[in-house]
Amino acid sequence: MALTCRHRLVNLYNSSCSATESHLTTIQITRATDVLPEEEIAAVQPLVDEINRLKIERNAIVAAHNYMTPDIFHLVADITGDSLALANLALEADADVIVLAGVKFMAETAKIINPEKTILIPDLAAGCSLADGITGADVRRMKAQYPGLPVVSYVNTSAEVKAESEITCTSGNALAVVESLGVDRVIFTPDQYLGKWVASKTDVEVILWEGSCMVHERFTGEEISDYKRDMGDIPVIAHPECPPDVLAEADYVGSTHGMIKWVSDNRPRKVMMITECSMADNIASAAPDTEFVRPCNLCPHMKRITLDNIKRSLETLTYQIEIPQDVAERARRAVTRMLEVGRQD
Ligand code: SF4
Repeated sequence: MALTCRHRLVNLYNSSCSATESHLTTIQITRATDVLPEEEIAAVQPLVDEINRLKIERNAIVAAHNYMTPDIFHLVADITGDSLALANLALEADADVIVLAGVKFMAETAKIINPEKTILIPDLAAGCSLADGITGADVRRMKAQYPGLPVVSYVNTSAEVKAESEITCTSGNALAVVESLGVDRVIFTPDQYLGKWVASKTDVEVILWEGSCMVHERFTGEEISDYKRDMGDIPVIAHPECPPDVLAEADYVGSTHGMIKWVSDNRPRKVMMITECSMADNIASAAPDTEFVRPCNLCPHMKRITLDNIKRSLETLTYQIEIPQDVAERARRAVTRMLEVGRQD
């Protein structure tokens, strides 16, 4: 598996924010056709070469989420995408080992649909405020409170929560999934904001679990409105994990995949992208004519994944994702049902 540096990059952005920095203190502007400077590529080249050698040795691939840093996304990833894309692509991958460059629930989802493959996560502490905020017991309690109602769970959940759910969804197909059930009411877990956004688009009553994404919940509508005023009312695209007052300021609301498609279809000269910081870095090379203005907010969980721990993961085959068989089987039913609904964005 040869290394392909698929994007030759020019550094025109300032990646100075950190996970602990106040998110709207910095506006990053990406106007580059590329995002990694040559010196940076040269510095990591030995590590990248070693990762690619290990991939061949292990018959492994690296599946990277859109929120990975550009070095991972552009230099070692074999497949990239959002949660739904990674789940689908991992299913088709001709590899014995998949290193999930993302967070733990994504690795679990890959294991659920690829039980025979070795699925690795380079850092077990790469969690998610949504997935870590609800347990299988919580879902069972909700089901007892609302007997007979189907449970729709966002893929940002543990295998145990998926196993308690009728069907999973992503931000790309949540509305279609809810409507596919043909019922008047559903229980929706764990993201209250995605659930509220779905509820605003359908006649189905949506009963919410009050979870949230620690990255997207920090944006506020007032701040976005201030930026729009200062920057000349440029179009705003936002992820549905943002609070409703942020989404009210947006011209388009959709998954990371949907946002990429929106930029590609509309080719705006300038756009404000409200989501995790690395997203604009990673799509900039595909939209060289667009300037991305983005309030800066990094996911600390995603940023636990590095070239170093990807290499270590391939060397030591750690950390392997294991799911009890009965949990995996029930979770697979919910995920498979979602995959049958497919992508709607
Ligand atoms: S960005 Fe939010 S939803 Fe995604 S992994 Fe980080 S905390 Fe979870």
